[in-house]
This record gives sequence, C-alpha cells and structure tokens, in this order.
Amino acid sequence: MDSVEETRDIVIVGGGICGLATALALHRKGLRSTILEKSETLRDTGAAIAIRANGWRALDQLGVASELRQRANPIHRMRDVWIDVGKQQEIPEIGECRCVKRNDLIEVLADALPPRTVRFGSQIVSVKVDKENSFPTLQLYGDKSIQAKVLIGCDGSRSTVADFLGLKSTKMFAILSVRGLTSYPNGHAFDCESTRMRREKISVGRAPITDKLVYWFVALPWTPSDERLTQDPEVIKRLASSKVSGFSSDVIEMIERAELDSVSLTRLRHRAPWDLPTDDIQEGDGDSGWRCNACNGSIPRTRWFSSSRRCRCPRQVLGTESKS
Ligand SMILES: Cc1cc2nc3c(=O)[nH]c(=O)nc-3n(C[C@H](O)[C@H](O)[C@H](O)COP(=O)(O)OP(=O)(O)OC[C@H]3O[C@@H](n4cnc5c(N)ncnc54)[C@H](O)[C@@H]3O)c2cc1C
Repeated sequence: MDSVEETRDIVIVGGGICGLATALALHRKGLRSTILEKSETLRDTGAAIAIRANGWRALDQLGVASELRQRANPIHRMRDVWIDVGKQQEIPEIGECRCVKRNDLIEVLADALPPRTVRFGSQIVSVKVDKENSFPTLQLYGDKSIQAKVLIGCDGSRSTVADFLGLKSTKMFAILSVRGLTSYPNGHAFDCESTRMRREKISVGRAPITDKLVYWFVALPWTPSDERLTQDPEVIKRLASSKVSGFSSDVIEMIERAELDSVSLTRLRHRAPWDLPTDDIQEGDGDSGWRCNACNGSIPRTRWFSSSRRCRCPRQVLGTESKS
C-alpha cells in the first residue's frame, strides 16, 4: 500500500445533509470529525425537502431546528388527489411538517460545525484496509491518501464507501423527478398544505415553504431514451411544463415561473435499509439501527458511536442510505 500522508480519528465521506448532520451530532457529543466533500462548495440540488416529525426531533437534538423553523412555515395538511377520478385522500396525523429549502438546511448545519470541518475538493476514489493496522485508508483524487480510525460513508446514492463495504447497488426506479422552486413576490394563494396531484402517469407535488416561496416536483415515467439526463435548466423546465398541460392553471403557472437556478432533473434511486448488512456494523445499536435517512440517522448513529466503541477492525466503516 502507498504511504499514508495523514491520519484522522473520524472521517466522513460526503458533505450532504447526512454528512453534515452526522458531523454535527458527533460535535455535540464532543467528537471531532473531518468531512471530505468532492464538490468545491456545498450542494443544494433538489430545491427543497419535506421534513416530518422525526426529522424535526433530530434537528432539535442537533440544536438547529429553531433557526430552520423561522425559515419554513408549518404544513398542516397532506393530501393525495387523483384528478382523473375526482378522488382525494388525506394523510392523517402528519405531526410537525415543514418544507425546507435545501440551501437553508445545509447552510444551517454547516454553520454550526467547527471551522474547517469540511474539506472541499476532496474526492475519494477508493478505500482499502491497511494490512498492518486494519484501519481504512482513503485514496483521494490527485494521489493523496488519508487513514481514518473510523470512516463514515455519507456519500449518497453512488457511494464509494458502500462499494468498499460490498453493499448491493442502489435500485433504480423507472421514475424521473423534476424539482424546483417558484417565487411569488406578492404572496401565493396556496393553503399551508402539501398536495400530490396525479393525472394519468404524472404526479405533481406542491408544498409552500414561506408565504412567497413554493417547492414543487413533477414525477414522470422514465424511458430508456432518458438514459442521458440533461442538466440544462431551460430544457428541464420545458420538459416539466409539457407534462402538466392537463393540470390546473395554477400548477401550469407555477412551473412556468420556476426559478431557473433551482430546477433539477434526477432519476430516482433507492437503497433499501434491509439491503444494508446488519450483523457486524449494527452491533451495539439498540433501537433504531440504520432504518433512517439523512439527518434522522445521525442521532442514533452518534448515540451508539459515543456510548460504545465496539466497532471491530477492519469494520470501522459505517454506511448510510439515501434516495435521490
Ligand atoms: C423519504 C424521502 C423523501 C425525500 N424527499 C425529498 C424531497 O422532498 N426533496 C429532495 O430534494 N430530496 C428528497 N429526498 C432525497 C434526498 O435528497 C436524499 O435522501 C438526501 O439528499 C440524501 O442526503 P445524503 O447526504 O445522504 O446524500 P447527498 O445529498 O447525495 O450527499 C452526498 C454528498 O457526498 C458527496 N460525495 C459523493 N461521492 C463522493 C466521493 N467519492 N468523495 C467525496 N464526496 C463525495 C456529494 O458531492 C454530496 O455532497 C428524499 C429522500 C427520502 C428517502
């Protein structure tokens, strides 16, 4: 193995919601970590994210919920509407629910971390186990290598750490999702509710973030011709507009007025919790295990981690799941 240039106690790969929340949870327990993030800045692709009661409990424990509550109105109701058949169904007892701009969430988490926790421009290309001490050694793009006493994978749905662990790859859904934000400088007229409207094979979701800002998504079937997804926001917006022609005029207008820099197109993929190995890395994790996503997961992981050092070499590598 090449010589190791640096050794850190806890290395988190990925500075998305999950990596930042995990680092903050460790910090609240007095444990210092380093996040290696391949991008040069924090990424906010996906526009916004609906956070429900479990997520708010996690954010409360991380000490950032009150700041975020000021930036996102409560959502009082969630409804599914089938336009074709004139039917609707309300989701009962939703608990605390707010739709938060991803930018706000990421910024608030990052600001609560000690300076220089995140190292930008640090892409992990592979992980190997050091034969002498059994610690994971990370090879970075550009020939640098770092050894971690504990390595935590928060590197999303195409995770290098998950590959190293031998986890099954994420499952691809035959669904594309366009997401975006629309501003209404004079205020919008939507109720404080999250609505998912379905017509034929298209779903449109809408949730107000504030009185003047609305998050939306359009979910549409994926076909093999969509293999190479465009990242051109104009093209993505036109695609979304062309799919909602049979929806109400406020939906059509919402998509036509979308903020171009917020628009993204992804094919949904998912790593099921039951696909994660549970025998070794879950040891000592009493209650909620790995059945958790983004910020929810950081709390049980860190509780286990700070109260028990029962990880065994060379398994000092923790993985997380995600869907995007
Ligand atoms: C129930 C559910 C609801 C959801 N609802 C929404 C929603 O309303 N809106 C929405 O936008 N999304 C939604 N999502 C998806 C959500 O975006 C993801 O779950 C979330 O972003 C995952 O965060 P993450 O930090 O695990 O991964 P990511 O956000 O993908 O972050 C991974 C980070 O790792 C970095 N990275 C990757 N590979 C490497 C490497 N080799 N080296 C260094 N860095 C690397 C990436 O640059 C990135 O910053 C939902 C998901 C679920 C499960």
